[in-house]
Amino acid sequence: MTKHVIIGGGPVATNAIETIRQYGDGEASITLISDEPPHSRMALPYWLAGKVPREHTHTADDAEFSRLGVDARIGQRVTAIDTSGRTVTLCDDSTVEYDNLLIATGAAPVGLPVPGSDLPGVQALWTLEHTAKLLAATEGVGAPRVTMIGAGFIGFIMLNAMHKRGWNLTVVERESHVLPRMLDAESAGLVESWLGQKGVTVHSGASVESISEGEGGGKVVSLAGGGTVESDVVIVATGIRPNIDLASAAGIETDQGIVVNGRCQTSVEGVYAGGDVAQGPVLGGGDNQIHSIQPTAVDHGRIAGANMAGHDAEYSGSLSLNILDVCGLQNASFGNWGDTSDDAVTISNAADHIYRKFIFTGEQMTGAVFVGEANDLGMLTDVGMVKGIMQTQTELGAWKDFLKESPFDVRRAYIATGVAAKLAQTTLLGQKAQPRGYRFGGQTDQSAVDGSHAQLVSPKAAAMEKAAEVAAAMAAEAAAAEAEAAGESAEA
Ligand SMILES: Cc1cc2nc3c(=O)[nH]c(=O)nc-3n(C[C@H](O)[C@H](O)[C@H](O)COP(=O)(O)OP(=O)(O)OC[C@H]3O[C@@H](n4cnc5c(N)ncnc54)[C@H](O)[C@@H]3O)c2cc1C
Repeated sequence: MTKHVIIGGGPVATNAIETIRQYGDGEASITLISDEPPHSRMALPYWLAGKVPREHTHTADDAEFSRLGVDARIGQRVTAIDTSGRTVTLCDDSTVEYDNLLIATGAAPVGLPVPGSDLPGVQALWTLEHTAKLLAATEGVGAPRVTMIGAGFIGFIMLNAMHKRGWNLTVVERESHVLPRMLDAESAGLVESWLGQKGVTVHSGASVESISEGEGGGKVVSLAGGGTVESDVVIVATGIRPNIDLASAAGIETDQGIVVNGRCQTSVEGVYAGGDVAQGPVLGGGDNQIHSIQPTAVDHGRIAGANMAGHDAEYSGSLSLNILDVCGLQNASFGNWGDTSDDAVTISNAADHIYRKFIFTGEQMTGAVFVGEANDLGMLTDVGMVKGIMQTQTELGAWKDFLKESPFDVRRAYIATGVAAKLAQTTLLGQKAQPRGYRFGGQTDQSAVDGSHAQLVSPKAAAMEKAAEVAAAMAAEAAAAEAEAAGESAEA
């Protein structure tokens, strides 16, 4: 009987468990060791905003683990890995043997090395307990003053939740603009002006020198070069670091994260890693990267699980993508969005908070940035289509120039180059995905698809046929338009 051991209870772990059970022999044992209850960090903002109770962030309970045949050791930590003896040691000094080990330990917030960062009322905002602590600290305080140090992707997701609660918010960012690892300076400028209109104060290009006690239990954040911000709570959101220490102590190859290949295998046979802790292949090639996003964690979990179950599943890498709502302003960036190549088109309208940038390499789109209001439905559908164009690594041919001339007409290029049909054929594991079922509280899935939706999702063949029909019609339309344009220029 094969023994699988998984460390961590996030999306990598839960997806790997489900995949092992889908693709494995059913006899294998699975032991899960996680210091936190299995949950989705992505759901924490909904709890923080008061939209769902804490339980809705959980992704599995005892009944679900029993159904999946998992020996779940929740609330325990792994303290060491012995790769030659194939065992892991737990915090109570017990050991568990493995044939296959998956390290899915995620990442942890890095601190802020300034005086006062350890005061009560100064905290990170990454885990279940951090969220509980913030909710407890602000309970009964009508509209608390919250200062967030660091203006990155995850920080802004939580900022959005706090904005929904009507709190008084200030953001301090050391770099010259907010979201420095997601947006370029120009698009970030639109976000900053939007935040100003929404009553959120932004200090960018400002370093925090110290944090001290203020009056009545409040905190005073002092900025280098003068200036202070008074608040009830200070959130330190200055970045995260992959939890690689277990792996590096065990002699597994690490760089910024644990280095994995397209099968999520590490440098040691029988040891896999995935998600925020892993530095894995990137769609389109290039050096391995850590993406720290849910879609990469899910892909890694499924790929690792399939290989642990004895299948040979290799994937071509993850697409770097960030999609973010900043208090009603939608932002997205994909791929090599920061590439400063001239082979790009940029449209910017600061007054209406609209920004669009497409970057090309050869005939492929390799980077994109979007900013637009939440009610701009055209932009939202274009975001999805651009993601599809990049995920399928479509050779755009003449449609590249078309997109450079008409960046607001993505649909035509998307259809004419057959992206929908390619996406319909794409499967991560080479097999049709299985329904996952509801995984909390022993409840079964109550959702049902109506006819129009079913036509799109099942069976895939019907969707592909439909997509091919539409693509052919659009290609004919585009060819006719091109012929007409050629005729006009010949006449001229
Ligand atoms: C507030 C918030 C909102 C987010 N929103 C989005 C979003 O909108 N979109 C998006 O794409 N991504 C989002 N993310 C990022 C996304 O949640 C992560 O990429 C994802 O959770 C990574 O999954 P993982 O399984 O690798 O790690 P994690 O989910 O971090 O799980 C790892 C688990 O392992 C446990 N662990 C670590 N070491 C040990 C040990 N030695 N022994 C036992 N257990 C251990 C950890 O405590 C943790 O519970 C968000 C993250 C946060 C914090």
